[in-house]
Amino acid sequence: MPIKANNPGLKSWLDVSPDSDFPIQNIPFGVFLTRDDVITIGTRIGDYAIDLAAMHQLGYFEGIPLTDDIFLQDTLNDFISDGKKTWRLVRDKISDVFEADNPSLRDNKEHRDIILFTLDEIEMKLPVYIGDYTDFYSSREHATNVGKMFRDPENALLPNWLHIPVGYHGRSSTIVTTDIPIHRPKGQTMPKGADAPVFGPSKMVDFELEMAFITTDANSMGESIPVDDAEDYIFGLVLLNDWSARDIQKWEYVPLGPFLAKNFASCISPWIVTLDALQPFKVDSPAQKPAPLPYLQYSGQKSYDVHLEVAIQPENAAESVVARSNFKYMYWTMAQQLAHHTVNGCEINSGDLMGSGTISGETPDSFGSMLELAWQGTKPISLENGETRTSIQDQDTVIMRGYCLGDGYKIGFGEVRTQLLPPLA
Ligand code: CA
Repeated sequence: MPIKANNPGLKSWLDVSPDSDFPIQNIPFGVFLTRDDVITIGTRIGDYAIDLAAMHQLGYFEGIPLTDDIFLQDTLNDFISDGKKTWRLVRDKISDVFEADNPSLRDNKEHRDIILFTLDEIEMKLPVYIGDYTDFYSSREHATNVGKMFRDPENALLPNWLHIPVGYHGRSSTIVTTDIPIHRPKGQTMPKGADAPVFGPSKMVDFELEMAFITTDANSMGESIPVDDAEDYIFGLVLLNDWSARDIQKWEYVPLGPFLAKNFASCISPWIVTLDALQPFKVDSPAQKPAPLPYLQYSGQKSYDVHLEVAIQPENAAESVVARSNFKYMYWTMAQQLAHHTVNGCEINSGDLMGSGTISGETPDSFGSMLELAWQGTKPISLENGETRTSIQDQDTVIMRGYCLGDGYKIGFGEVRTQLLPPLA
């Protein structure tokens, strides 16, 4: 059954510019602080933030089984726990209320004054309480590039890579949303040619262009999620900048994988775009040869055509786009990642965050990290202001954006924007 809110013909009575990431067909979910210092769950159409707690109090969700305080929360976890049927009813209802011909809120100034905010009146917060964070490594191009640089160019992919959606358990305590500056991390590295490690600020801070999906309660401990059911447990997606300190990583990652090089900061975009909103943008995935084991074989299309870009903005200078990639390049799909994650009975909860891994394409301008773009420092990339970079410098801001292109409209993710500050003393 088609999802009502996805109808490309819908128009809102709110003003939406044609190139907005947030037309009425998007209806993402987020958490924001209002001008009155109230924290609420909301959505966004055009450049308006919409207070869903206020809408609920004023009766606009009548007929949908929701607890009174479901939107009066500082995270989306409880709403996400309500499950797909409820998300769909709520998104369809929001779409209905803001549809051009519906006068119920359009013509009620008193309610509009309570429900609508302009973006300068709100502050976006982290949308979910992230209990667990898992990061995959699912771009064949990225894994191949890293294998070439760190190991053996002839055998860049490790033997398990084409059989397992490789991943590791990350840390959620240092995941933040957009517009929150971070500090250059300090740690232990082994300089080239040295015979003992040194301690100090990382000299190779990098971004990783990723997307991440947010789950609902999917299973009980011991149960597995079949690959063809997996998407039912995915609430939506965000952009993820999985900051990495390459020099720390290189020294510490053997044999157990990433640790302190990865957990000093990861930044996500604040609006969760629902998997429902992305349905019109499903595409085929790259062919998988050899065929994966049966529990990872799925039917239908499970990749999504999301255009991605990364820009670097030095202090007091214009930004330069340094990479353009696409989520559809991923070798392993989200459904396969979630099926694999639970195949041993690992429990997945509402608000868990699953990173895709760095999303690189085939061409050098589509690589999703500085490590690859500047090929381990050997090919500095040029910025608009004449400077070059092989890694991110103090005061640089890294901006990631993503959007799907519909017929005459976009479904976008907005951006995640993070400035790197010098190390704390
Ligand atoms: Ca990563």
